[in-house]
Amino acid sequence: MKMRVRKYMLPIIMFLIFELVAVSLWLSKGNLFYLFNFSYIGISIALGIGLMIAKNKNGRRVTQLLVGTYMLVYLGFISNENMQIEGFWYYLFMGVFEAATIHYAVAKIFGPLIFGRGWCGYACWTAMILDFLPYKVPQSHERKKIGWLRYVTFTASLIFVSALFLAKVGNIERIMFVAFIVGNILYYLLGIILAFVFKDNRAFCKYLCPITVFLKPMSYFALFRVTCDKNKCVSCGLCKKVCPMDVDVTDNSKKRKNGTECIHCSECKKVCPKGAL
Ligand code: SF4
Ligand code: SF4
Ligand code: SF4
Repeated sequence: MKMRVRKYMLPIIMFLIFELVAVSLWLSKGNLFYLFNFSYIGISIALGIGLMIAKNKNGRRVTQLLVGTYMLVYLGFISNENMQIEGFWYYLFMGVFEAATIHYAVAKIFGPLIFGRGWCGYACWTAMILDFLPYKVPQSHERKKIGWLRYVTFTASLIFVSALFLAKVGNIERIMFVAFIVGNILYYLLGIILAFVFKDNRAFCKYLCPITVFLKPMSYFALFRVTCDKNKCVSCGLCKKVCPMDVDVTDNSKKRKNGTECIHCSECKKVCPKGAL
């Protein structure tokens, strides 16, 4: 029993962290929604990690589908919260601490200081669909020099929401809901096109996603990183071959190639013949 608890310590800790956030927000804001929201996410994450520890190859995908569909369908479509970056700007300008602002603060701005790009591997509803495409391992690990496009989409989202406020457009709430639907359709379309053009499911994440403007610098300082035990590694290169994000995972320095891109998918760990990761 003791051994089993130790083995599943990580999912237990993850669940407790989310439960702490759930109860704190519920009591401080007097809103039961926060208890439900963060408990659900905590259980989904703990379940996925637990399955991975039990060597179930679909563990990560289970969490991704549970959290991704919840955010897209329940928070987005049913509760009318724009959970995309435009929603973040909107609630920020309104000075409202609502779902989108809390979500960004936890998952995309401060959370990455602890768990890096865990959001991208386990919860994002855009990647949830892109991960079904055929190019799980990119055809080439060489990056195209178009990463600057992420700043264009980031700036465009900020200009769009600022313009609505500056022009004092009425019924912004409704516009934000329509923007959420249109934005998601655009993301999926562009994501699928890019995946097929570059033969890489995660091309959208690498070049176009505006959220990486937050995610990349914050995850540089991530507490949890995949590291390589140099005493065990035999430099076979398998880990780099299967990495969907082209991370040079055998380099333990913070400045390793594409180091801010790791989505904690564990594909490298699965193939390492020496258990060095
Ligand atoms: S980079 Fe963007 S689209 Fe890709 S998983 Fe992360 S948040 Fe989602
Ligand atoms: S394969 Fe390894 S290094 Fe690459 S993204 Fe997944 S966990 Fe990170
Ligand atoms: S797969 Fe393992 S042994 Fe091979 S290079 Fe990577 S860390 Fe080293």
